[in-house]
Amino acid sequence: MDNYVSVIFCRNCKSRFVDAGEWTQDGKVVVQCRSCNAKEVLSNFTLGRGRISNAELQNARDTAAKKDRYER
Ligand SMILES: [Zn+2]
Repeated sequence: MDNYVSVIFCRNCKSRFVDAGEWTQDGKVVVQCRSCNAKEVLSNFTLGRGRISNAELQNARDTAAKKDRYER
């Protein structure tokens, strides 16, 4: 059985190497791009990790949400 997941990409450099890094004092996770070091604080979400095929990774890239154009 396949499982549906969402993939997070760096909007700055399009990298897939986005990790949960440090945590803020008030318990929010700081996600960081390992490619360009862009950082963002998330308060209601966190990241998981799994192995997906190159074809599925390309599907995720092809359906990445963009302003005024959300794909599912
Ligand atoms: Zn990046």
